[in-house]
Amino acid sequence: MENMIKDIDIIREEEEKSCDFKVTAEENTGKIKKLYIESYGCQMNFSDSEIVASIMKDNGFDTTSDYSNADVIFLNTCSIRDKAEQTVRKRLSQFNQAKSENPELTIGVLGCMAERLKEKLLEEEKLVDLVVGPDAYRDLPNLVGQAEAGSKGVNTFLSREETYADISPVRLNSNGVSAFISIMRGCDNMCSFCVVPFTRGRERSRDPHSIVKEARELFAKGYKEVTLLGQNVDSYKWSPEENNKARLNKKETGVSEVIYFANLLEWVATIDPRLRVRFSTSHPKDITDEVLTTMKRYDNICKYIHLPVQSGNSRILSLMNRTYDREWYLERVQKIREILGEDCGISSDMIAGFCSETESEHQDTLSMMDLVQYDFSYMFYYSERPGTLAAKKLADDVPLEVKKRRLQEIIEKQSQLSLIRNQRDIGKVQEILIEGQSKRSSEQLKGRNSANKVVIVPRGRLKIGEYTNVRITDCSSATLFGEVIDR
Ligand code: SAM
Ligand code: SF4
Repeated sequence: MENMIKDIDIIREEEEKSCDFKVTAEENTGKIKKLYIESYGCQMNFSDSEIVASIMKDNGFDTTSDYSNADVIFLNTCSIRDKAEQTVRKRLSQFNQAKSENPELTIGVLGCMAERLKEKLLEEEKLVDLVVGPDAYRDLPNLVGQAEAGSKGVNTFLSREETYADISPVRLNSNGVSAFISIMRGCDNMCSFCVVPFTRGRERSRDPHSIVKEARELFAKGYKEVTLLGQNVDSYKWSPEENNKARLNKKETGVSEVIYFANLLEWVATIDPRLRVRFSTSHPKDITDEVLTTMKRYDNICKYIHLPVQSGNSRILSLMNRTYDREWYLERVQKIREILGEDCGISSDMIAGFCSETESEHQDTLSMMDLVQYDFSYMFYYSERPGTLAAKKLADDVPLEVKKRRLQEIIEKQSQLSLIRNQRDIGKVQEILIEGQSKRSSEQLKGRNSANKVVIVPRGRLKIGEYTNVRITDCSSATLFGEVIDR
C-alpha cells in the first residue's frame, strides 16, 4: 500500500486483512438471488455491510463469496485517504468482464465514496448502476429493483436520525466469538483533515435498549465478546425523545432521561460477566473519568483504549481542529494510568506530515509516543481530501518524500515501543479468550488478552470461544506467546 503504510509487524491480524477488503461468505438458505459484498476501510463499514446483508436477505438474497455467481455486487467503500478511493476504482474496472458476460448484473457503490461523489460517480464509472450513501440502505431493495428494470439510481440522503436500530445484522466473516455492535453513527467533530463528517453526517446515538438486546442475543448464540463501535463512542448521548447529539444538546432539560456512554457501557457489562466488552474509538476530548471508573468496576470491560492522538504538537493539533493540546492529551493518559494502571493497553492513530508540520513538530510526535508508550498504532501520512477544512484553508506543503520519511520514523518508534510493552508482560499470568487458529500452525491457537494483544498458545485441549489463563513466556513486537496454566 503506497499511502497507508501500516507496520505489518505491530498490528493485529484482523487489521492486516482490513488493508484490502472483506467479502461476504457463501450462504444457501434457498433464496433465489445472490448478493456479493466487498467491504473496504474501517470496522464501521464492515458493520454496515452486515446491516446491508440483513436488509437484502429480507428481500430475497443469499450472500455469495464468488462475484461471478452474483446477481448483485456491492462495493462498500472508504474515502478516508485518496489511495482508498483509487483501490475501489481499480477494482470496479475488474468487474467490467463480469458485467459484459452478464448484462443483468447490478453493480452498486455504497458507503463513503458514494456519499462524497454522488451522481458524479455514475458519470465517471459507467458500469455502476447504483450509488447509495450510508444512511440510505433501507432504500436498497427498491433501488436494486429499479436497476433491474433498467434505470440507474442514486440515494445519498444523509439522515439526522437513522441508526438502523431495529435491523438485526447478518454476521459476516464472523469467528463466532467476537462481534461488533454499532452504537452511533456520524461525527460532529470536524477535524480539519477528515472527510467523515461529510460522508457520514451528523452524530446520532442508537437506542441503548436495542444495543443491549443485540448484545444479549449474541451472548445467547455463544459469542463471548462484543465491541461497541462508533467514530467517537465516548460522545454517545441518547434520550427517548431525541437521538441526534446536536439537537439533544440544545433541548437537554426537555427530555425525560439522558443515557451517556458510561451508562451504556455498564448496561452491556452487566449482561453477563463472561461477556467481554470492548469499544472503539475514543476521542481524547470526550473520554471521561466516569468511563474510566466504569471500566475499572467491571472485570469484563477490557482494559484497552484506542485514543488517537494524530500529532504530538499543540500547534498542529490546533490546525487539525482536534480541540485538545499536547498537555490535555497527556493529562488524559495520566488519568488512564491512575485509574486503570500501567497494564491498560493504549493505542493511537498518527498522521505524519500534516500541513506546515516542521521537523521539530514531528519530533514532538515521536516524544509523545515515548511518553505514552503506546502498545500499537495505526500510522498514516497526510492525504488531502477534497472539501475538508484543511483542503480549503491549508496548503498541503510537506513534500511526499518528507511525509514518507517521517512516517517511517513513527513506524520504527512504534515497533520499538510495542516490543518494550510486550516484554513487560513476560512472566505474567493473563486471562485470554481463544478466538481461532493461529495463522502459522494448526497446532497453535490464538487468543487475546484484556489489553487487546494477541497471545499464541499450544492447542492442547483448548476450544475456540473458551477463556483460559496463560503465563506469557515470550514475545515479538506483534505477538505474545504463552503456556496454559489452569488445566
Ligand atoms: N474517529 C476516529 C478519531 O477521531 O480518532 C478516527 C476515524 S478515521 C476513519 C481513522 C483515522 O484515519 C484517523 O484517526 C486518522 O489518523 C486517519 N485519517 C483520517 N483522515 C486522514 C487523512 N486525510 N490523511 C491521513 N490520515 C487520515
Ligand atoms: Fe474524523 Fe475527527 Fe470525526 Fe474522527 S473525530 S471521524 S478524525 S472528524
